[in-house]
Amino acid sequence: GIRPLPQVEQLIPYQPGKPIEELQRELGLTRVSKLASNENPLGASPQVISALEKASQEIARYPDGSAYALKRRLAAFHSVEPEMIVVGNGSNEVLELVVRAFAGPGDEVIYDQHAFAVYPLSTRAAGATGVVVPSSEGFAHDLDAMAAAVTNRTRLIFLANPNNPTGTYFGRSEFERFMQAVPERVLVVLDEAYFEFVSHSDKLDGSQLLDRYANLVVTRTFSKVYGLASLRIGYLLARPEIADYLNRVREPFNTSHFAQLAAMAALDDQAFVQRSVAYNREALAELKATADRFALETLPAYGNFLTVHFGPEANAVNNALLKQGVIVRPLAGYGMAQWLRISTGTPEEQAHLAEALETILHV
Ligand code: PMP
Repeated sequence: GIRPLPQVEQLIPYQPGKPIEELQRELGLTRVSKLASNENPLGASPQVISALEKASQEIARYPDGSAYALKRRLAAFHSVEPEMIVVGNGSNEVLELVVRAFAGPGDEVIYDQHAFAVYPLSTRAAGATGVVVPSSEGFAHDLDAMAAAVTNRTRLIFLANPNNPTGTYFGRSEFERFMQAVPERVLVVLDEAYFEFVSHSDKLDGSQLLDRYANLVVTRTFSKVYGLASLRIGYLLARPEIADYLNRVREPFNTSHFAQLAAMAALDDQAFVQRSVAYNREALAELKATADRFALETLPAYGNFLTVHFGPEANAVNNALLKQGVIVRPLAGYGMAQWLRISTGTPEEQAHLAEALETILHV
């Protein structure tokens, strides 16, 4: 039969959360709360909706393959040059482009033991070698150990801040110490998918450090706080030479006209972002209160989700939640079989979760 490359044969596909409609059909439930994919419970800015109505007149034309207008807007937003931006089909795609352009067989890529699933997937698909660094206590990235893992084969280091699925965070001074310890020939990919949600006394904004570090790549997304997950659009900030290499391996029309227009409209509505951040802060406090009520251990949460310890019963709890129409994320694939990741939701969705937990945990 037909066989793929050996590194592809061994891959386990990314497991997305079940779509709401599928669970409704499967279980005959009408009340379904999806708290599994770190989406924005407020949806998207109303300005995005009007931008999309306009875009529907222009379906027959190819999108702007260079995302010219969006890149100019992003450049102004971050005070960088447009040549420093690469736009992708979700930040997922730009993360993959980095691997495709910089790592292959014989090369090493460093990431944390509980890092976002796309780093190991892209690394292995490229035939490169993943170097997994154990987390420090509390499931945080161990930046000292990651810097110490660099060999002369290392091409890339992936950091997620906050990390998914652990929600953990490192501050600017810790990051700058790390950058000083990493040789300049190694690219450091700082994934800031949840950047906007973070409140921290030493908050790290990678987009402002590109003039200091030539080997820094920062990724951002419109899927989380901007609420555009279904449109698939994200981007990367890096020195122009790096962006140029990535554009060489990028598919010419990788983002749609709809996604580009929506992203510009979303960027223009920073008041919506602020509302979403405030909403998330309250929702997270409420989720934490629910976990506390059931005496469940949680990890410090800096994004829009809470990582909760359910012990050996975690898988059974997940199945029981599904039966009641509550979709959360099991973390066995992340080496955290005793934990579930719960995204913030509307008050109704979170009440649904709390009620379901009450019947499952009998407290
Ligand atoms: N990075 C992290 C840390 C994430 O959690 C996610 C989404 N789960 C992504 C990147 C990719 O998101 P998107 O492709 O929608 O931008």
